[in-house]
Amino acid sequence: MEKVVIIGTGCAGLTAALYTARANLKPLVLTGTMPGGLLTTTSIVENFPGFPEGVDGYDLMTRMQKQAERFGARVQFGTVESLDFSRRPIQLSVDGDPVETESLIIATGAGHRRLGLESETLLEKKGVTYCATCDGALPMFKNRPLVVVGGGDSACEEATYLTRFGSVVHLIHRRDSLRASQIMAERTLANPKIKPMWDSVVTEVFDVKKDKVSGVRVKNVKTSQEFTLDCAGVFVAIGHVPNTQLFKGVINMDENGYIIPVEGSRTNIPGVFVAGD
Ligand code: NAP
Repeated sequence: MEKVVIIGTGCAGLTAALYTARANLKPLVLTGTMPGGLLTTTSIVENFPGFPEGVDGYDLMTRMQKQAERFGARVQFGTVESLDFSRRPIQLSVDGDPVETESLIIATGAGHRRLGLESETLLEKKGVTYCATCDGALPMFKNRPLVVVGGGDSACEEATYLTRFGSVVHLIHRRDSLRASQIMAERTLANPKIKPMWDSVVTEVFDVKKDKVSGVRVKNVKTSQEFTLDCAGVFVAIGHVPNTQLFKGVINMDENGYIIPVEGSRTNIPGVFVAGD
């Protein structure tokens, strides 16, 4: 039986792994489907303390894992399929195998929010993507007009990164100002290859019939005017949704699905803790 199982190997999961390992609890750390978490898909991270020149997201997560392993954390590729909190020890099914643990740390983070359009789903990986650093260099995007949707730091980062590949990057945002931090917003708006499109939303991605992205329909939310814009890629960067589906109905959450911590990092279930997003 395990003393501690940690679900998730993003920053929160690996930090929990480091501390529980140093407390000699030999944590079992389960990666889920994305070892290292979302940060592994980021290029340069400029706001992590201790790296004045910035650090590559993948490198940062690799270092965090090595640091936790150095003190006895066991990182295992595996996805938790179901949990039973009604018995002690806590029962988990990990890729079909049973795991028992005295305590559990949920660090499952968050996934990309989607626009919710049928055409978006049908053209995913055919020009619609949620990760510029993963897909931006694909030949299909080279010297072609690209679209980024969103107004936060992620959208700014994606748009800036994509100027390396696209002929022009249209940044489509539903309001008339960016949510992004001042420094990111200024850098983005100063880039001549980035064309902001304010008060606008994407209502359809073309062309499902051709099975690849050829453009988007854009609607101005103030005037309700609609027009089409040619592009070879649509990069959606509109925030995140927490990966907490597995705990629904058992662990207390808010209306957005974020787990509500009690007294720091406890949850409403004894022995179950939460960390990070
Ligand atoms: P975010 O800050 O929540 O921004 C999401 C953006 O998407 C907002 O501009 C929002 O519009 C828009 N949006 C949300 N739902 C939408 C929808 N259905 N349709 C159209 N637009 C929609 O998310 P984020 O940019 O991913 O950033 C998350 C956190 O990570 C932030 O704390 C950010 O600072 C941090 N981050 C930091 C860096 C960095 O420093 N290098 C890079 C990436 C992320 P509204 O503005 O109207 O709400």
